[in-house]
Formats: sequence, C-alpha cells, structure tokens
Amino acid sequence: MYQHLDNLGQPVDLPVGKVVCVGRNYLDHIEEMASTVPAAPLLFMKPAAALCALNEPLVIPHGRGECHNELEVAVLLSSPLSHASEDEVRAAVWGIGLGLDLTLRDVQKALKADGQPWERAKAFDRSCPVSGFVPVSLFGDWQDLHFTLSINDEIRQRGHTALMLHAIVPLIQEMSTVFSLAPGDVIMTGTPKGVGPLHAGDRITASLTGQFDVQTTVVQ
Ligand code: ZN
Repeated sequence: MYQHLDNLGQPVDLPVGKVVCVGRNYLDHIEEMASTVPAAPLLFMKPAAALCALNEPLVIPHGRGECHNELEVAVLLSSPLSHASEDEVRAAVWGIGLGLDLTLRDVQKALKADGQPWERAKAFDRSCPVSGFVPVSLFGDWQDLHFTLSINDEIRQRGHTALMLHAIVPLIQEMSTVFSLAPGDVIMTGTPKGVGPLHAGDRITASLTGQFDVQTTVVQ
C-alpha cells in the first residue's frame, strides 16, 4: 500500500490523495510531440491508485503498446487550496520530489484521434511512481531545479524548472480554481523532452540535482 515518504524514507503523516497534472508545460517537449502551446494550462488527473513508490520495481502494462517515461517535478501538498493566492500556495507545499507520469503513448494517440479523454492512457493503476519528498524548507528557488532521467546509464531527459511555461506557484494557483486541492494531493508539473518507450529490464535512475537519486528497474 503506497504511503507518502520523505527523502529519508520516513512516512509523511498525510493521506494519499489524487494527482493533478499539467500537459505541455515545456516547449522542447511540445516540439518533440509536434503539439501546440495551449492557451491555458492543459490539466488532467490521476486517481490515488496511480501512486506508487518510484524505488519499487516499475510495472508497465502488458499488451497496450508503448509505455513512455515522462519525468516531472512532483509537489506534495499539506493544506487545502481552493481559488488560492500565491502565498497560500507557497504555504501549502509540504515538499518537492520527482514523479514519472507514465503514458501509454499508442493508446493516447488513438484517444486523441477520436477526441476521447486520456484516462486510459494516463490514469491507470501505478501510472504515477513518485520519489520521497524533500521538505520544502531545504529548497531555495523552486524555478531553479535541475533533474535528469537515465535509462541504462544513458541520459534521456534533462529538465530545468526555469523552462516551465507555467511556473510551479501560478500553476498550482490555476489548478486550485478548477479543482479543490486537498492535503496529500500531488501536483505533477510537466515533462521536458526525451520521452520514449520503456522496456522490461531497463534500469532507471531519476535524479533531482543536489538532492537525491532514485533507482528502479522496469518489469512487465
Ligand atoms: Zn506528463
């Protein structure tokens, strides 16, 4: 059973809530997908059953086409937010970690072509492995975080939060005008370029520079 953990592996006393995500928040990923910049943040959600620990074997669904990595900065909330101010958002952040927004890309392409919603591609069980969360007091500038994803010792994704189209605080503020956010909810802040298919046996390292590395292996 998943429980939020801190960066030392200790349980965090918060319930396991939903995951609210943004798509197309880095220009280089929009370009690699040949997508367009949305007028407003493209929001979607994953249920609590999507959450699992990133340091456990990473289970990808069988027989549903390519499952892509999307490494993202993940934010754990500890207070409710609804139509929040920027100060309220800052005060509600418990910690910052990394998450994988696992995406069944072939399923997503078919759904997009039919104009259908994305949940089958994005919101399946264990579709959101997350690291432990580093308490927010240990960070300076949230828009100066560097993160990388390596697969079999080769760097596939290199992210810098300065390059987000919607920065973390205004993004969460906008989300709070659409969805009531609750203690224990996780915010996923979008992926930089370098998405691609995962295969059973792949060795994965997710790093938040200066904070932690998490290793896992893909299983099917
Ligand atoms: Zn994503």
